Amino acid sequence: MSRIAYVNGRYLPLAAAGVSIQDRAFQFGDGVYEVCLVREGRLIDEARHLARLERSLAALRIAAPLGESALRVILREVVARNRVSDGLVYLQVSRGAARRDHAFPSAGVRPGLVVTAKSLDPRAGEESAAKGVAVITLPDERWAHPDIKSLQLLPNVLAKQAARQAGAFEAWFVDRNGFVTEGSSTNAWIVGPAGVLITRQADQAILRGVTRTTLLDIVASEGLALEERPFSLAEAYGAREAFLSSATAIATPVISIDGRGIGSGRPGPVARGLRAKFAAAAAQS
Ligand code: PLP
Repeated sequence: MSRIAYVNGRYLPLAAAGVSIQDRAFQFGDGVYEVCLVREGRLIDEARHLARLERSLAALRIAAPLGESALRVILREVVARNRVSDGLVYLQVSRGAARRDHAFPSAGVRPGLVVTAKSLDPRAGEESAAKGVAVITLPDERWAHPDIKSLQLLPNVLAKQAARQAGAFEAWFVDRNGFVTEGSSTNAWIVGPAGVLITRQADQAILRGVTRTTLLDIVASEGLALEERPFSLAEAYGAREAFLSSATAIATPVISIDGRGIGSGRPGPVARGLRAKFAAAAAQS
């Protein structure tokens, strides 16, 4: 079955889908995006993803391409047309196509909207969560606004590639003060020696992950001890557990950082428990 993309008002076979070479996403990375998990054909945490999209657009002063209800229809349509039961739906909004000039184009230029979807085998995620994954660390050399989910992902791309080349799943960024900020496409968590969950507060230095927010709801409802604060790389090395979160990774245990085993060297109970609770909540949503 050929895959279908939504591009600026039309549903097209992926191979025939394209945007103008003057599109500002192509020219400048001038746009924003979202990735939403699909489970049994349902969009998980959709409202939170759409709320964050609105915040990202506002931060970059890009007009919404469509109203929220129209966007929801398109997301569902792309999922259905691609027959995605388990996978993800991706959407990106660019500032539109215009003659190349760094400054914003005139108000008449309409934002561009692209939506795609792909299937992912949920067993692969379960397997890597059951085994646990390796993480490396790198200096955080990103711009000052990783809190905006913009298309400009070059440092993240380079970091993920460095992780792959090191045989690791993810790279965690470390700021100038020695504190972990987040991963190249995931948020970072540890469980300290006293059993307290620690994750950085959602300040300007990290993306406020939707999965992070949903996991924090679970943490609160379970009454788990939590500190939202920066944690150092030294604390991470000495943690009882570590894990990462994102829409597609959910909560995935980290068993080594920079080649050092974390805790028992096996996925820990807190990460496994949060992953199970997330799956249960997603199944009921
Ligand atoms: N941090 C970064 C830099 C990301 O790119 C992502 C997801 O793409 C996340 C964190 C996790 O966010 P979410 O849970 O919304 O997928």
